This record gives sequence, C-alpha cells and structure tokens, in this order.
Amino acid sequence: MGNAKRRSMAFLRMHPYCCFCGGQTLATTRDHWPSRALFDSRQSPEGYEFPACEACNRLSSQSEAIFVMFCRLVRPMVNGQFDSQTDRLIRALAEQHPELSQSLISRPIEVRRYLREKGLTLNAGTTTHGLGLVNLEHPDIGKAFETYFLKLALALHYKHTASILSQGGGVSLNVWSNADSAKEVPTEAFGPYLKARASLTRQKVDLSGQFVYEWNADTTTGTVSLFWIIFPGAFAALASVAADRQTLVKHLPANSVFPPFSPHPQVPR
Ligand SMILES: [Zn+2]
Repeated sequence: MGNAKRRSMAFLRMHPYCCFCGGQTLATTRDHWPSRALFDSRQSPEGYEFPACEACNRLSSQSEAIFVMFCRLVRPMVNGQFDSQTDRLIRALAEQHPELSQSLISRPIEVRRYLREKGLTLNAGTTTHGLGLVNLEHPDIGKAFETYFLKLALALHYKHTASILSQGGGVSLNVWSNADSAKEVPTEAFGPYLKARASLTRQKVDLSGQFVYEWNADTTTGTVSLFWIIFPGAFAALASVAADRQTLVKHLPANSVFPPFSPHPQVPR
C-alpha cells in the first residue's frame, strides 16, 4: 500500500462520515476545499481536507470549475498579473460557455460604463485593461457560486465545531463579487460577531492573499457558526450556519437559506 493511500485511510478512520450531506453517509474520499485548483501552483492551505462521500465530492465539480475559472480571471486585477494566459482563459470562456461569458464584464468600454453606473472609481494604479468584473445575477453563475460557498461553509463548520450539520440544519449565504461596491457589504452589521481570523499557510507560506476568512462558532454545542470568507480581489461571502434551519428562515430571506447536500444512499465498503 502506498503512502498516499495509507494517509487517506488514516484520515477516513478519524473522520468516518461525509461532512456535507447530513452526517449519515460514510465518507470514502478526502476532499480539499477550497479546491487546490484555486491556488497558485495548486498549493492549498494545510488542514483543509474534509471527509466526503463519492456523490458529494462529484456534485460540486461543475460549480468548482466555474468558480475557479472566474476567480482566476478576475484576480489579476489585484496582483497585476494580467497576461496572455488570462487572455486565453477569457477567449476559452467565450467559446465554450458563451452564456456564462456574458457575466464577465471585461471590455474596457463596458467596465467604464459599469463603474460609472455604480458610482465606483478604480484604485490608484489600476486601469480598465485586464479588469474583469463578475455579475452574479446570471442564474448559472449564481447557482455555481451558491454550491461552492455552501460546500465551503459546511466544511468550515465541521472544521471549527467538529460537528456535521444535520439535514435539519441550514446555511444562509450572501455572496458578493468585485462588481459590487464595498458599500453594499454590511460589514459593520456582522463584523462585531466575528472573533478570529484563520491562519492559512502551506509550508509556512502565507496564502491569505488568495483565500482568507474570519469566523466565530459555538464550539461547545457545535450548533452555530459564522464565516466571513474572502477570495481577495474576486469574491466574498457571509455564511451563517445553524443546526436548526428554522431559526435562519425566521430572520433571513428564505431564498438565501440552504440545507446541507441531499443525503446519499449508503454504499457498503
Ligand atoms: Zn456526502
């Protein structure tokens, strides 16, 4: 048996149940989340591996592909690495997913019009060249992002409370993109509830320029948690997790509250 296989089996012994579909299904895979594809050179943070059943692992792959593509497209705006590779990605997006490419505002004239309409100004030193804004109102994009952040919230809830959210639980999600002005994010409303900032590293290299979050959780009961998640320069989301979905539905718009992934028939090992 190879080392990777041995590590995987040891991991699944410690984390026997899938943390995404209610806690009744045995996990068969180690799922890196956020996905490794999102990070430069696939260097994802240590300690972000989660137990998943086959179905939950597969379920997110389409959403993952869309999320990662958009993240990689718009990130150059902050780190100034807009290059021929990004250009190729934009062209590939337009050819393969013409319906999704409408969500990306990337032609300088459109970017300028959009910024004007929103009353936004560019950061000093930034030009409209290479600036990609993502409009999340397209239904396919919205769905993909919901799935991506829902899975991330379920994973982080498990990590910080050691509890799997059951089928009666819920996650409320608000997602923003770089096309939203900072004024649209009510940080003063939820900021005081956040208690800690995650430290995200691989081999002591700080990865918070690519992914970072602040959080709070009831670690005693494992019943509630809150995450303010940022993919710098690209997307951000606020996720509230509660073991009783009704408490969220009572206070928040019902279309922003999601149950965990559907349970999957048990596959004997
Ligand atoms: Zn599952």
